[in-house]
Amino acid sequence: MDVLCTTCGEPWDVYHLRHDAIHETDLDHAEAKAWSRLSPQLRLSQRYRDKFKAAGYEFGTSIMNVLRCPACPKGAQPDPDKAVLKAGIVEILGDDEDGIAATLEDLRL
Ligand SMILES: [Zn+2]
Repeated sequence: MDVLCTTCGEPWDVYHLRHDAIHETDLDHAEAKAWSRLSPQLRLSQRYRDKFKAAGYEFGTSIMNVLRCPACPKGAQPDPDKAVLKAGIVEILGDDEDGIAATLEDLRL
């Protein structure tokens, strides 16, 4: 399953977001591995958001909701309509990451 970046439309594989993207940050291997086992909320605590941001990723309230990614052109901004829609879907589906990913993929978001 792929979800699309809200800013540039780049497709991101859900497995990559869950397991590999964290290894693009400067976290050491053990902490990056441990990150995958954290709850959805802890995975997006400020510490990890900062690490992801340095690697080019920004997420909404779920890692399934990619607001900006390493493929984004410099200075590009998220599509505001898509951002609102995606935030709403994530809010409705909560921690159901598979449901969020499937819904975003169905809607090509
Ligand atoms: Zn992007």
